This record gives sequence, structure tokens and C-alpha cells, in this order.
Amino acid sequence: MNDQKLWLQHYPEEIPAELEYSREPLQNYLKQSAAKFPQKSAIHFMGKELSYKEVYESALKFARYLKNLGISKGDRVAIMLPNTPQSVIAYFGSLMAGAIVVQTNPLYMERELEYQMKDSEAKVILTLDILYPRAAKVKPHTSLQHIIVTAIKDYLPFPKNLIYPFIQKKQYGLVVTVEHEGSQHLFTEIMKMGVPEEVEVDIDVEQDLALLQYTGGTTGSPKGVMLTHKNLVANAEMCSVWLYKDKEKGHNILGILPFFHVFGMTTVMIFSIMEGHKMTLLPKFDVLTTLKTIQKQKPTLFPGAPTMYIALLNYPDLHRFDVSSITACISGSAPLPVEVQEKFEKLTGGKLVEGYGLTETSPVTHSNFLWDRPRIKGSIGVPWPDTDAAILSMETGEQLGPNEIGELGVKGPQVMKGYWNRPEETEQVFKDGWLLTGDIGYYDDKGYFYIVDRKKDMIIAGGFNIYPREIEEVLYEHEAVLEAVVAGIPDPYRGETVKAYVVLKEGKQLTEEDMNDFARKHLAAYKVPRIYEFRDELPKTAVGKILRRALVDEEKKKIDDR
Ligand code: AMP
Repeated sequence: MNDQKLWLQHYPEEIPAELEYSREPLQNYLKQSAAKFPQKSAIHFMGKELSYKEVYESALKFARYLKNLGISKGDRVAIMLPNTPQSVIAYFGSLMAGAIVVQTNPLYMERELEYQMKDSEAKVILTLDILYPRAAKVKPHTSLQHIIVTAIKDYLPFPKNLIYPFIQKKQYGLVVTVEHEGSQHLFTEIMKMGVPEEVEVDIDVEQDLALLQYTGGTTGSPKGVMLTHKNLVANAEMCSVWLYKDKEKGHNILGILPFFHVFGMTTVMIFSIMEGHKMTLLPKFDVLTTLKTIQKQKPTLFPGAPTMYIALLNYPDLHRFDVSSITACISGSAPLPVEVQEKFEKLTGGKLVEGYGLTETSPVTHSNFLWDRPRIKGSIGVPWPDTDAAILSMETGEQLGPNEIGELGVKGPQVMKGYWNRPEETEQVFKDGWLLTGDIGYYDDKGYFYIVDRKKDMIIAGGFNIYPREIEEVLYEHEAVLEAVVAGIPDPYRGETVKAYVVLKEGKQLTEEDMNDFARKHLAAYKVPRIYEFRDELPKTAVGKILRRALVDEEKKKIDDR
């Protein structure tokens, strides 16, 4: 334990340092909210409202369907969807069937999807019609048995044929190919069932997994973070006490952060369902749609990533929109510039505070206070209730004192059980009970924490986490490539951007365009390097390890010298 726990002195009266957690499995929160507020709107999606009763009954149908497909407790069910009513229904429905949810990024290409399906051994995947061909190609090489198909239009209130192709093209940049005839499982058909009885499952909230959430973690190779029912419930309950004001009025939470990432999943979806709030979902972040949605739907909470707030603030016609409904925003996933924080607060009249967390912690461990305390510039805030944090020496592992820089370690009920099927990596990431975050930082004399660097090589570009190793592996597959290394270099808008340094085999010639075409075939668009540099050789350590850091430093120097 961190004996000092200096931060507790700042807790307002309304936030207890320790919480009593409910023993309910996660899915029961939907049932409870549906019993309390059957007619209340749980979801707003592009003009359509879905009541709590409707969402609950739909989830029951999905659970029963999974059961009929042979899914039983502990089986993995993958959900590869943008934020839509189906993503919420399927999430809770899968848990009701006793399954473990595997969240899958809908931008994944075949290679990435295949890896995740093989690793998790998911038996069922639910995805969009336009993504069906991708899932169908992967299926024979994995343990997938069934592909359930849905479409965005399934929940649109307006004339579908008119709007549908437009939305698909605009939102996903994909050609419309509705080729799902091969699937025998259509979401719309499942929803036509009569409302079934609950599936009986016995869940041990401390031990049983609710979720396998894939991340590169500290080492970069994608692995499934095992989050239990208790982990997720605890983090959502902490979120609830942190937001102690105005609860009784009921919130409308803007759901732009994708639910296939743990940040949006917990702070929007689980939190909202748990407390009976309403979520206003957008399947993709787009500045104009977001501003129009805020003006019309008047959300009160807006959890987001710094790049979202930056993009909104830089919209030329911003003054035409009324965004004053927003009372609180928690920014996470990357550092939040103070200037952005101040401008956004002035614009909305609400509060925007920085938080911090990682997939391994469900995700939130720290955040600034939303109310009744002054803003602390550049800080990630203080640990949440029941959460302990320490700065550990990178040489000795010992706990360091205030203002000393080391690796941030955390403990708490939101900390994962471990990595799926990776006992060695699990062992490495825990030290004396502390989860090692891979982030370098310190805390000040008052107990506020600051992040200064990342031990891991992860790149955060436009809010997406990108792991160099995965991209390098693809580049290495090109027959003309001798060596490749990928680094995140500073970018004024995206925070960082992906740059690839490539050494070609002797006698080979390649252009930037060739490399780019190759990378695009194998990687989701956000991971594809934006810049390529061909070199004769790369800087290396004595043992031949490529010095990625030296390349990043070179880039920073170039910027400083300008
Ligand atoms: P993920 O597992 O995708 O949630 O990514 C977690 C990582 O995002 C952390 O280990 C940090 O490196 C980074 N991160 C999250 N929040 C912040 C923040 N407020 N400031 C700096 N880095 C952050």
C-alpha cells in the first residue's frame, strides 16, 4: 500500500474513500433499470428512441438465441460493431447467456480479426452486413461456428433505402456490399421472437469473466485482458460516485467513444445502464454530426478523447451551435492540453477534466475532480475510491516519494485478473501486487499524479492506440524490405503520427506509394503509416536491437530546430 495516500485529503464529502460494491453480475443492471424505468428512453440512435423495456427484452432474445446455438457459460461471443443499439443489446444479451464478450474493432482487416478470433476461440460473432464477407473469410481458420448479421438500417426510423447507402459510405468509407446471404443468422429475425424466459446462469462476480478486451499492453503483442464482472461493476460504480451532482435529474450521455474500447464501454454504456440514464449514440465521430446532435439531443455528459474536443473547438462554424447542455466531460486515453480544457469549458459552460486509465484497469484509475476543487494543470488527477497508486523505481522496484519519477503502479477492484492464456506476461505485469502500467510519472506534494512518458512503445494517434510491432511485422512481409521500424512522431493535430523507416534489400526499388498500398491491404486504416522514409541503415544497440527511441528523438530535434 502507498502509506501516504495524500490525495484523500482532497476528496469532497460526497465521495467516500471506500465503496460497498454490489454482488450482482453486470447484466442484472439492465434488468434492474428496466424494472425501475420501463418506458424511459435508454438509447437514442439517429432519431430513434429505445426504452429500457425494449432493450432488456431484446437482450433476453439475443441471450436465448445464443443458448439455442449451444453457447454456454464461459464461451466467447465476439461483437464487431460500431456504437448502435445492437452493440448494447448484444453485449448484455451475451452476458445473460453466461458468455464472455470479446469486443472487436469493426475497422479490423482479415489478418487482425483472424488473430483475435483464434486467440479468444470465439464461437459466435455478431457483425454488420457490410463486414460479413470479412468475417466469412476468417471463419474457416478459427473456431467461429456462427456469424450473426445485422445492419445499421435495422434501427433507423426513416426511409431505409434512401438513407442507408449514404450512411454506410459516409461513416465507414466502405463500398456497400450487402453480401450476407451466407449467414443463416439475422439479427432482425432474432428480434422477431417472442420475449423468452431468462437463461439461468450462475455467475461468481469475483472470478467469472465478463469481457476479453484486446490490447497491446506494455509489450505490444495483442492479448486479451480478462475483466471480471466485479472489475467492470466496480469501475462503473466509482464513476457514479465521482459524478455525484445532478444524478436524480437523469443524464443524457453522448456515446461517441466506441464501445469496443473499454473507455466508452464503461464510462458510457455500463455506467448509463447501471444508473438508468439515457445514451445518445453516434456510430462514428464526425464534427458536424456531433455538433448537430449536441444541439438537438442536449446531452449532459460527454466522455471523450482529447482529439475530439480539439476537433470540435476548431470547427469554423462552431459559434452557430448551442452546446450549453454539456455539464461534465471526462477526457482520457491521452494527455489533455490545458488550453483545450479551458477553451472547451468556456464554450460549454460545463466542466472538462482529465482522467487516466488503461484497458487492464477497466479502465479508470485516476481523474481530476469535476466539482468543488480547483483545476490542477497537466495532472491526471488523483486515484479513484478504493484505488491505490504508487510510483515505483524502474531500477529497484521500490516505492518512490513525491516528485520522484518512476513507473506508475496501481491496485484496486478494477484491476484485471490477468492476460488470457498468457501466465508469463501476467506475471511480468504484476509486481508485489501492483499492476505496472508502463507509464512513467510522479506525484506532487499534494498527492496529484502526472504522466511524463511511456515506457512502452505504443503510439497514440488521433485517440487510437497503435503498436509499432504489429505494423513492423506487416512491413517485414514485403519481399523488398530488409528492415523496418515504426515510431510515433509528434503531430500537431493527431498528437502523434505513424512514421515508418525502411531499409530495402540490395537491388530493390520501392516508392512510398508501393509501401502504402501494401500496408493498407493488411492493416486497419488508422494504423497505416502516414510517412515513410527509406534509409541505408537504422540506428541499433550493440546487440542489434533497432533504436526506435533515437529516431523519435531525431524527429523532435528537427521540430525544435525549426
Ligand atoms: P488503453 O489500454 O487503450 O486504454 O491505453 C492505455 C494507455 O493510454 C495508458 O497506459 C497511457 O499510456 C495512455 N493514457 C491514458 N490516459 C492518459 C492520460 N490522461 N495522459 C497520458 N496518457 C494516457
